[in-house]
Amino acid sequence: MPTRAYIGLGSNLADPAEQLRCALEALDQAEGTRLAGVSGFYASDSLLPGQPRYTNAVAALDTSLTPLQLLDALQAIENGQGRVRQERWGPRTLDLDVLLFGEQVIDIPRLKVPHYHMQARPFVLYPLAELVPADFALADGRRLAALLEDCPFVGLERL
Ligand code: ATP
Ligand code: MG
Ligand code: MG
Repeated sequence: MPTRAYIGLGSNLADPAEQLRCALEALDQAEGTRLAGVSGFYASDSLLPGQPRYTNAVAALDTSLTPLQLLDALQAIENGQGRVRQERWGPRTLDLDVLLFGEQVIDIPRLKVPHYHMQARPFVLYPLAELVPADFALADGRRLAALLEDCPFVGLERL
């Protein structure tokens, strides 16, 4: 049985919307994964001053990979699209984060799932909400509807 995973996509360099389209294609083509759904694209200002605006989206994947194999695949796609790893949170052509991996809670240095900051990020929660039922809960039991209530739709522009 494949596992349903949700991936957060982000870009703020080199034609961000095109970076996301290219990444979605790569996710669908990756060995052991199939794209099952995509949210709309959203624009927002960078959390750090002085960076270009971001474009973000969330993708649903069905995958037979393990969580770490999926992370490897995401990082290969990031690298393939010219991601240069400098400081954390620097501008980037592509960021692919594992938001959720089935019902699993993972807490090792390389991989924390549910993604540790998703509850504070409207550009993650609102696109995710497009892909799941209204009563959806994260693997750790938190209800998405409750997270949305605490995370106003501020500074987000649906493209
Ligand atoms: P943030 O995690 O705040 O969104 P970021 O996405 O810019 O920041 P990266 O530079 O892409 O951070 O990743 C740094 C490290 O985070 C990666 O090398 C990876 O091992 C680790 N990591 C931990 N949990 C996750 C996750 N759920 N998805 C992707 N990477 C993760
Ligand atoms: Mg990130
Ligand atoms: Mg990342």
